[in-house]
Amino acid sequence: MLFDVAIIGGGPAGSSCAAFCALAGLRTAVLDREKFPREKVCGDCLNPSCWPVLERLELAQRVRDLPHSMLNSVAFIAIDGYEVILDLPSGANCEISVKRSLFDDLLLRRAGELGADVHEQTTVTGLTRNHGWKIETASGRMLHARMLIGADGRNSTIAHLCNLLPLPARERVALQAHIPRPRNFGNRIALQFLPEGYSGQAPVNESELNLCLVGTPPTISTLRKWAQRQFDLPSNQAWRTVTPLTRSPVSSAHQNLFFIGDAARVVEPFTGEGIYYALRSGELAANAIAKILRGDDRNSALREFHRAYAEMYRGRLWINRLSRAAVLRPRLGSLFVHIARTNPSILKLLTGKIVSSTNSSFRANGSVVKAATQPSKLSGRGQASIPP
Ligand SMILES: Cc1cc2nc3c(=O)[nH]c(=O)nc-3n(C[C@H](O)[C@H](O)[C@H](O)COP(=O)(O)OP(=O)(O)OC[C@H]3O[C@@H](n4cnc5c(N)ncnc54)[C@H](O)[C@@H]3O)c2cc1C
Repeated sequence: MLFDVAIIGGGPAGSSCAAFCALAGLRTAVLDREKFPREKVCGDCLNPSCWPVLERLELAQRVRDLPHSMLNSVAFIAIDGYEVILDLPSGANCEISVKRSLFDDLLLRRAGELGADVHEQTTVTGLTRNHGWKIETASGRMLHARMLIGADGRNSTIAHLCNLLPLPARERVALQAHIPRPRNFGNRIALQFLPEGYSGQAPVNESELNLCLVGTPPTISTLRKWAQRQFDLPSNQAWRTVTPLTRSPVSSAHQNLFFIGDAARVVEPFTGEGIYYALRSGELAANAIAKILRGDDRNSALREFHRAYAEMYRGRLWINRLSRAAVLRPRLGSLFVHIARTNPSILKLLTGKIVSSTNSSFRANGSVVKAATQPSKLSGRGQASIPP
């Protein structure tokens, strides 16, 4: 089997890249070790920046047709229960939350519709470089491709096989589950600092809430017990888990080899932007590969790729670093929430930078809400508004 491009990983990065490569007329294969639909450790929130890429894939309406929640606000909750609530952009291109099983399956099917060869339950285990690439899979099958794309996530096998995977910082671990949606939760994202880490919560449909917990290996069981009490979860609640939450980036373009999405750069989950970077970097790599394979000047195609790739992150990475600093020291993060109570402009600025999109109006009203000092279950928590 000889392909122009073999893409390893069928998450948002790999499927987006496969769809754009197939659209450009390239013989494209996408390989994923899982059988789709499959869930994934994620907050399930789609940043509004995703919409233009989804439009170009003619998928925006089909994403809106999936069960989802339209998110109208984000609540930052300090350790002592104080909350600052900011409005999110409204309109058709607002932030939504949708289960990754549904979203990723739609994207992978779209790549197939556009002509990509989709190989599920196909784990890549070996690589040989010889002009192009020889790709070995766990079942013993071989594929040959002129270009190889590592879109296989934060623990990228491709980066590992090429001796490019940085040592992971095993400082934190994330747990995630879909649980029954508490009554009166509303259509909001809650980002809650806790003494041992933080929790992210977002409704994904009428009946389910996405619950994420992020802590260190020694504290994660305390966070799990907190979640059991807070949301009345059974003691045998099943959790999905992932680590690391942070690692150094891998350079995205090499000789006949690209890395995209988390395989290239892992961003702090707190800001909920990883899916956007995955979709967009997939599109950018596909554009560059199409130019190179049809014989355009390789150097100028790569220059254009590097410029657009850097542009994608411009003005956003410092917010990522700031968020990481806050979540690594939850008391500092909580202090920030208290400061934002009297001066919400900095939080408005940061949130606006993360969620603003060209087609929606960001309206951060900075409404400030003081929660009960000892918050009871989220479903019945009393709140009193304080004028900003
Ligand atoms: C706790 C948490 C919360 C998050 N919340 C959000 C959020 O709300 N919004 C947001 O935008 N981002 C969020 N993110 C980030 C987001 O999940 C990632 O950035 C996104 O999934 C990256 O997509 P990707 O396609 O690069 O990788 P992935 O989605 O990880 O896909 C990689 C694919 O590669 C496959 N694969 C791996 N190894 C192999 C192999 N050897 N052979 C074949 N296939 C292989 C895997 O099966 C997988 O399907 C969160 C992350 C975490 C940890």
